[in-house]
Amino acid sequence: MCQIRELVLGIESTAHTFSVGIIDFEGKVHSLVNDIYIPEKGGLHPILVRENHLNNFMNTIIKALTEARISIKDINLIAFSQSPGLGPVLKIGALVTRMLSQILKIPIVGVNHCIAHIEIGRLMCNIKDPLTLYVSGGNTIVSAFESSRYQIFGETLDLAIGNMIDSFARDAGLSHPGGPKIEELAQKSNKYLPLPYVVKGMDLSFSGIYTAAKRFIESEDFNKKYNLNDVANSLQETAFAMLTEVTERALAHTEKTEVLLTGGVAANKKLQQMIEYISKEHNARFEVVPLKYAGDNGAMIGWTGILRYNSIGGHDISETIINPKERMDQITVPWRI
Ligand code: AMP
Ligand code: MG
Repeated sequence: MCQIRELVLGIESTAHTFSVGIIDFEGKVHSLVNDIYIPEKGGLHPILVRENHLNNFMNTIIKALTEARISIKDINLIAFSQSPGLGPVLKIGALVTRMLSQILKIPIVGVNHCIAHIEIGRLMCNIKDPLTLYVSGGNTIVSAFESSRYQIFGETLDLAIGNMIDSFARDAGLSHPGGPKIEELAQKSNKYLPLPYVVKGMDLSFSGIYTAAKRFIESEDFNKKYNLNDVANSLQETAFAMLTEVTERALAHTEKTEVLLTGGVAANKKLQQMIEYISKEHNARFEVVPLKYAGDNGAMIGWTGILRYNSIGGHDISETIINPKERMDQITVPWRI
């Protein structure tokens, strides 16, 4: 393991985004190129996403190399998202990475996607040991490092928050991704329509909010007694209050002094304000991961690959099988022990 400027190529391929990030061992990102599959209608169909990634992976890698002004031969280490995610989609990233590792004769590291979201946040926000709220299209997790692992203090029992908002937005006739559009509409209303607030212990359920919000826009009263702005506002208020409650309780329990907000939904200003408020109440520093690195991206995979490689080396090729259901609290984190 030599310490001169070494470069890792990180490949993210868990869901809609096939992303390639080139980052060096000091944490400087040299390039980041995303190819995002947007379904024409409905949710993400794993087979269609797989086809998209299969058709585009080479172009995405070439663009990332070109942007970083390097050749594939300059890459010293390759990392990929090994878990969790959609099986057929994870397989594409794994296949490409295992192939490149063997052709180029460079070490390979498999990375847990959720841990990567936290690690890129620690790097970019220059913080050490945060309580993290990770909210995205596919995940809703409150996590902190304790007893050698990123423990999960709270999580969704059904839909991920981003998926719930996108699904509702789609039903309301808005294009994908719905999150930013719902945020814009919500800003135009102060009206609150009651929606199910479901926190069970430290876990959350969003399916009741989704169904009830959908009923509001299907009702005869829609556009008479209230409008879409009001439903969007109520949906955000309810879902974000639930997230804030669980995050605050985890913060009180763990007594962490830093709070990190990440994932695509971290772009939401209302959610940022609410999490910032409780952070201040607990004298904790609040950080939002820069949006370029908050959503799924290859740089976070590359950086987490570097952390593991510097700590205990790469994976043997026989250990690089994908693990679509692996939870972040199932694995130890050698670079933080
Ligand atoms: P990710 O899965 O991390 O790539 O993030 C994508 C998710 O973030 C989608 O569900 C988007 O609708 C959601 N999102 C992006 N911007 C916003 C926003 N301003 N408010 C709420 N959700 C958002
Ligand atoms: Mg993600």
